[in-house]
Amino acid sequence: AGRLDGKVAVCTAAGQGIGRRVAEAFLSEGAKVFASDLDAGKLEGLDRFGTVETSGLDVTDSKAVSAYLASLPAPDILFNCAGYVHHGTVLDCDEAAWDFSFDLNVKAMHRTISGLLPRMLEKGGGSIINMSSAASSLKAAPNRYVYMATKAAVIGLTRSVAIDFIKHGIRCNAICPGTIESPSLEGRIADLGKSVGGTDKAKTMFVERQPMGRLGTPDEIASLALYLASDESAFTTGTTQLIDGGWSL
Ligand code: NAD
Repeated sequence: AGRLDGKVAVCTAAGQGIGRRVAEAFLSEGAKVFASDLDAGKLEGLDRFGTVETSGLDVTDSKAVSAYLASLPAPDILFNCAGYVHHGTVLDCDEAAWDFSFDLNVKAMHRTISGLLPRMLEKGGGSIINMSSAASSLKAAPNRYVYMATKAAVIGLTRSVAIDFIKHGIRCNAICPGTIESPSLEGRIADLGKSVGGTDKAKTMFVERQPMGRLGTPDEIASLALYLASDESAFTTGTTQLIDGGWSL
């Protein structure tokens, strides 16, 4: 039997990286998954893992999100994965960069949670999982000014939902990864490579900040998301789950 048999899951940004691997894991464990991404084409192939409905969805588009959520059955699991890394200090962050990061990394979670929670409550409960980061209120990283601010906000939002609906069967937890292999990380490595003398050097810098001497994998994050989504974690809510290879030690 699958660990999520009979459950309905909603996953944003499921096209690549962590979101993709989590959607695949949910499908493999028997959930029916409603997977969306800004780029619908990236969702191709998810149907090899189980019963999935894929949709193009920009989580910063309030109207599109409402219409999409209204088309879904009441979910048991909501995985909010969409997020973006802005590079730089406070001096590199203009109002547009601030607003974009908060819209995508934080307000998008407000849109999906406020839209789906009433129906999760009618259903008698559910598990909400929000993608934060170790780089948040937990661990400082250079040049992650507005990113850290948004991911810290995700932790506050998560704990608020957890406490307000704890008596109604809703659990809400945040995942806080260290550096994880993903297409967007490859981009950040390529960018850094331009200023430090090559992609290999840049990759070494990312790896060296991990005390375990390696990056994490989307698989490792998917194992944690699966646990938080399943009833195995029934006693766990409002937590910030660090999964960072000891980066924050
Ligand atoms: P990624 O950045 O490689 O991919 C992100 C996906 O989000 C893409 O498929 C993209 O099309 C989609 N997307 C972008 N804008 C969107 C929008 N407006 N609406 C819907 N979808 C949109 O993936 P990743 O690196 O695995 O990151 C996923 C999440 O994990 C993010 O929230 C990120 O901040 C967080 N995270 C990643 C790491 C890491 O090292 N990779 C570490 C900590 C936290």
